Amino acid sequence: MSVKEPSSKRGSAGGSKLEVNEMPRGQRALEYAGILAFASLAILIAVETAFGASTFGYVWLVPILAVAAYLVADLTSGFVHFTLDNFGDDDTPFFDPYFIKPFRDHHVDPKGITRNDFVDTNGDNCLASLPPMILIWLFAPISTTSWGYFFGAFFLFLCLGIFLTNQFHKWAHMDSPPPLAAFLQRLGLILSKEHHDIHHESPYDTYYCITVRVWNPLFDRFDLFERTERTIRRYVPGTHPELRSERDGALNETRQT
Ligand SMILES: [Zn+2]
Ligand SMILES: [Zn+2]
Repeated sequence: MSVKEPSSKRGSAGGSKLEVNEMPRGQRALEYAGILAFASLAILIAVETAFGASTFGYVWLVPILAVAAYLVADLTSGFVHFTLDNFGDDDTPFFDPYFIKPFRDHHVDPKGITRNDFVDTNGDNCLASLPPMILIWLFAPISTTSWGYFFGAFFLFLCLGIFLTNQFHKWAHMDSPPPLAAFLQRLGLILSKEHHDIHHESPYDTYYCITVRVWNPLFDRFDLFERTERTIRRYVPGTHPELRSERDGALNETRQT
């Protein structure tokens, strides 16, 4: 789940923007390759799953697995987002320029994501999904065992949910999303602007899930993200004992200067 500066070079200082045609060609090519590889692996896993379905049946279970995978994708988006918003700092090797900074800068310029094109929006999530997809395709017995078939179907839909998350997030920030997106938002099937706006209120410490809107009210009601952060800070060496929102709720504004 990445949130990139609009058309910007990841790792550049907050606010410095580069147009798509000014982006490093290697980065752009990598994103194209990531999307192509993701699509190829998804098709390969889908074929394996289809073989599993023809062998073991239980096709009625596939839609149920798809819904479960969609909910897990939303949960995954929430915990990745929660981690990148709250842990690590400017000195965190690799993770700051590529993950932490883009997420936190997104609080400063929430409309920036709407200026990303399809490749820029979805390339990183595809790249991040490739290692598990390759491992699952190579080693999971999707077409030869019933449990492998169920897991393959679940994993395929989970990857698709993760792939769609950044696109849904982008649409939630658009004043005029595409008609189909607006329709799905009204139905509550994907993240809506009204729902996601709650996260974008300083100090950005709730409503972290950005695929759909199932988990956020539940987590917010029981302060589950806050409890998780307190637990991590209490037991993980090297983390600050206070909540990030208690220390620097205005962190993102100050990072602009
Ligand atoms: Zn955030
Ligand atoms: Zn956002």
